[in-house]
Amino acid sequence: MLTIYPIAIYEDNYVWVIEHQGQVAVVDPGDSQPVVDYLRKRNLSLDYILVTHKHWDHVTGIKELTGTFPNCEVYGTGHETIPCLQHPLLGGETLSLMGLDWKVMFTPGHTLGQIAFYMLDKEGQGHLFSADNIFVCGCGRMFEGTAEQFQASLASLMALPHNTLIYGTHEYTLANINFALHIEPNNTYTLHRQDVSQTLREEGKPTLPTTVADELKSNPFVRWNQPDVIRAAEHFSGLKLNSDAAVFGVIRAMKDQF
Ligand SMILES: [Zn+2]
Repeated sequence: MLTIYPIAIYEDNYVWVIEHQGQVAVVDPGDSQPVVDYLRKRNLSLDYILVTHKHWDHVTGIKELTGTFPNCEVYGTGHETIPCLQHPLLGGETLSLMGLDWKVMFTPGHTLGQIAFYMLDKEGQGHLFSADNIFVCGCGRMFEGTAEQFQASLASLMALPHNTLIYGTHEYTLANINFALHIEPNNTYTLHRQDVSQTLREEGKPTLPTTVADELKSNPFVRWNQPDVIRAAEHFSGLKLNSDAAVFGVIRAMKDQF
């Protein structure tokens, strides 16, 4: 059986724990103790650590976890300096871990070296561990990349099957939805997501995972070809925007100031 569970750390980060056939992987352990507590309580060991990018809230727990679980192997981006990294990945690799098939995607934009992990389970369902690329109705900050790079990365993620489950690292959903409705006030699907997400948060539940289909319907950062989104970006910039990347870049800049 496959289980995927979020451990909440810090203010609004999730460490995703993946269990399959008695083996366990964690994605982006920004802290170690909550992960150790979770595994000990269930009598589990740790086999793999998967790391998407170098930011402190994604890597800080790695050293301690490899100390506590010495057999655990660290797979992560080879474009950046990652603690204890044993298997550097550049994107395009296929991996077989825990009896599951994985594909590594190179997705620069948030940082220049970020990768994402796409896993196909035994039923053929896709699971995307995308870290700070895409969130519910949002995307990561553009710290290092260009709008062209980031938009191309998001386009490659949105080209995955529509039912792909997306496990982002941050619980920014309600704030992101406020911004999404600022861009597309008449998007009824976003309004519906606001209701659903508010209820989940009131119950103390995560709003993730999301899906490719949900984001295509409501996330202004991947709706660069929608008239309302283009109109909002052109109004803000005062420019005629003639590429998807240009629209994306302005929407990203608008969010930075929102
Ligand atoms: Zn980050």
